[in-house]
Amino acid sequence: MASAFGHAASAFGLGKLFPQKIIPAKVYVLGIISAILPDIDVIAYKFGIGQYGESIWGHRGFTHSFFAALLWMIILLLVFHRKEVNKLIIGSYYFLTTASHGLLDAMTTGGDGIAFFAPFSSERLFLPFRVIQVSPLGIKNFFSEWGIEVLKSEMLWIGMPCLAMIGLGHFLNKSIYR
Ligand SMILES: [Zn+2]
Repeated sequence: MASAFGHAASAFGLGKLFPQKIIPAKVYVLGIISAILPDIDVIAYKFGIGQYGESIWGHRGFTHSFFAALLWMIILLLVFHRKEVNKLIIGSYYFLTTASHGLLDAMTTGGDGIAFFAPFSSERLFLPFRVIQVSPLGIKNFFSEWGIEVLKSEMLWIGMPCLAMIGLGHFLNKSIYR
């Protein structure tokens, strides 16, 4: 995975691209949770529920797929936004934040590929562009030299694009969205 910080930052940056009137703090919080949630497959594995390796129930399997992002979006809309008029916009934010997790993982330097098309295909894929230092799985390991390398690489490859999204979002909200 990219680190939880990296995933959270990308959800925050993505949110800024949307009309801020429609994306209140509650939606940001759910978006950030959505961006971290796919790694629940690691916890499941620790509890002996998931599987290891390249099965679609292994790490970076089904929970990292576009289909899972779609299902999760529907669940959030049903639970939190039943009466919302801007379901389409809020839903796309949830879909993007959840799917961004797998996309960032697919740019990391290590680990298994991502089963983007699970459950329809179990093929594990990376993006052609693998620049983000892969993050250790445990908290203990994170506060180490490895963790520092991860943060440095995420600062560049996630932090900078996030700043760009925040800037662009600011412009869109000031000048384009009415
Ligand atoms: Zn992941």
